[in-house]
Order: sequence, then structure tokens, then C-alpha cells
Amino acid sequence: MSQPRVPGESDDRLELPCGEAIAVTDLDLGMRELACDCGATHAVVMDVHPATRFLPEFLVEILREVTETTSEELSEFDMPHVMGMVIEEFPGSVVSHDATDEPDVGCGLLWVSEFDSRRLHEIIVELIVELMEHAVSHGDEDELSEFERQMLEFDVEEFVEEYRADRNFEAESPYDDR
Ligand SMILES: [Zn+2]
Repeated sequence: MSQPRVPGESDDRLELPCGEAIAVTDLDLGMRELACDCGATHAVVMDVHPATRFLPEFLVEILREVTETTSEELSEFDMPHVMGMVIEEFPGSVVSHDATDEPDVGCGLLWVSEFDSRRLHEIIVELIVELMEHAVSHGDEDELSEFERQMLEFDVEEFVEEYRADRNFEAESPYDDR
């Protein structure tokens, strides 16, 4: 099915938030960051990356329960939802691209953010905490106070630091925890 492709031949360019442009075919599934010509490092996220790249499994499970998903394409809470939240909050800082026609890349949607992967991770965790607070505030009071108690102890930067350190010991494939 996939067409043979000469590297560098594609004119499918992706313009980044910083103004630089890259060839979409330069990206692959294992990439999580991109060292850009502008001097910054940008996070690379693909729809095939599990949400557990940024969020612990238990949280992803909860999010799947609390988020209402009506679209058939986005049936479960996953990376497209996560990046949708980031784009909503930082519309000019993330570009998305449909790479379905680029079989070499290996994903459907992909996103490149102005921030590096670590900053993006912090932003995602902060947004998820807000989403959870909103979701829980519609629940009963016992749940709310339990959640608030947990959130009081929750330090986003510390969490991201530890989460990333833990995962760095794992193999590089983003599929490991699927
Ligand atoms: Zn750049």
C-alpha cells in the first residue's frame, strides 16, 4: 500500500509556530522532540503515542470515564483530546498536521509545539488537573473533598520531573505501555 518515497523529495512542509518549516517526512514515530533551526527544542506528539506518555495510567482511566465522547473517531480519551486541550489554551503555540498521506511517518495526526517536551508535559498535567476539578465539581461532595485533598498534595513540576525520570529508564518505543 505504501508508496516508495525518496527521502527529501516530499514537498509536504509543516510550518512551525516559531516560523521555521520542516519536512513532515523528517518525523518518525520515535520522535518526541525536534531540535529546530530557530535554536529551540519543540515537542513532537503523535496520535499513536499513548496518553500515558504524559499521564499515569490510573488518570487516563479516570479521564476515559469522566469525559463525554460523542465523536466516533475519538471514541476514547487519548492523545487527540490531550492536544486539543493544549491548542485551546495556547492556539498559536501548537501546529497540527494530518500525516495520513505520509505512510513513512506512521501516524495520523501529529502536533509540534513551540515548547519543549518537558514544558508541554507540565502544561498538559496542569490542564488535566483543571479538567478533573471541573469534572469532580459536578460529582458529590465526598468525591470533591477527596479529590481536593489529593490535589493539594499534587505538585505539577515535581510530578513531571519524576514521571519523566521514571520513563527514561524504559525502552524508547512509545508503544511499550500499550
Ligand atoms: Zn523552531
